[in-house]
Amino acid sequence: MDIKFTKAATLKEKPDSATLGFGKIFTDHMFMMDYSADKGWYNARIVPFAPIPIHPASTVLHYGAEIFEGLKAYRCADGKVQMFRPMENIRRLNRSAERLCLPEIPEDIAFEALTEFVKCEQDWTPSAEGTSLYLRPFLFGNDESLGVHTVHNAVFVIIASPVGSYYAEGINPVKIMIEDEDVRAVRGGTGYAKCGGNYAASTRAGERAAQKGYSQVLWLDGVERKYIEEVGAMNVMFLIGDEVVTPMLSGSILPGITRMSCLEVLRNEGYKVSERLLSIDELAEAMENGTLKEAWGCGTAAVISPIGELCYKDKKYTVNNGEIGTLTQHLYDTLTSIQWGKTEDKYNWIYKLDK
Ligand SMILES: *Cc1c(COP(=O)(O)O)cnc(C)c1O
Repeated sequence: MDIKFTKAATLKEKPDSATLGFGKIFTDHMFMMDYSADKGWYNARIVPFAPIPIHPASTVLHYGAEIFEGLKAYRCADGKVQMFRPMENIRRLNRSAERLCLPEIPEDIAFEALTEFVKCEQDWTPSAEGTSLYLRPFLFGNDESLGVHTVHNAVFVIIASPVGSYYAEGINPVKIMIEDEDVRAVRGGTGYAKCGGNYAASTRAGERAAQKGYSQVLWLDGVERKYIEEVGAMNVMFLIGDEVVTPMLSGSILPGITRMSCLEVLRNEGYKVSERLLSIDELAEAMENGTLKEAWGCGTAAVISPIGELCYKDKKYTVNNGEIGTLTQHLYDTLTSIQWGKTEDKYNWIYKLDK
């Protein structure tokens, strides 16, 4: 693929690692590529980071035709930059595209776009402990007409943002509110697609939880409001007795790459792991009788996020005395040491930029 490069006239100063936060600072360039039904994907380019002009009738503004991905580039101790399972993000992007009738991108083209863009911006990968370069590929429908139909025009963009350590003040277990009113997704809907619309629909419950002092919402299934699904932007796992339980991928849950990686590690190390239905009643009972040992969320941003408190119908349950559990810590250490290249990559998950 021919990627046209237009260098930014002035390069920005790299920020101090302590001030990064999440997704507020962007690098000098962005990748863009257009799609039309006649030409397919064309005009791949890396251009200065700037606002994107958009037609007021563009599909994305009216009908929410947008999907995205989230992954990170990590700087290792030897100064080299690497990515964690980027091909999985590309495959998931295409599964999301299929669900929303957006054009898929051939895997080799998407991979080249991603790796060439990261090579271009790799100097922005911070090196302080726990920091990384967050990559946000996104794809949206861009027909300049209000008719409702499968789009004929689309745009694929990748932007990058240096992000701070999620746990700058140490790993603090989070308080989660189990939502029994709003639902995030239903089977047959878009729950398994990483699309902006899912987030738009979940904001209200998130706001309500925040007002009560909870950092995220744990969703129940959209039909019976009985089975555990996932947390906000993370999948969820529970250690009940000696069994690690995570909701099975039923179609309404986002198939997280961190989730998949945790399951591979746990199975490889001989833990008893079940992907199955987990009802709120079973979870409540496990919390009452003390068999719930640990609970954690997993997703690219935080990697592993221990859950210290769960609230359901105004009843509060403390998990593991509000502290991070042994297995939770083990998963965090295992994944992060592979991501930052501190241990051997025995699962073959790492893509090194220059090899
Ligand atoms: C992205 C996302 C996740 C986590 O997926 P990872 O690939 O592990 O980052 C979980 N749930 C939702 C709703 C998401 O959007």
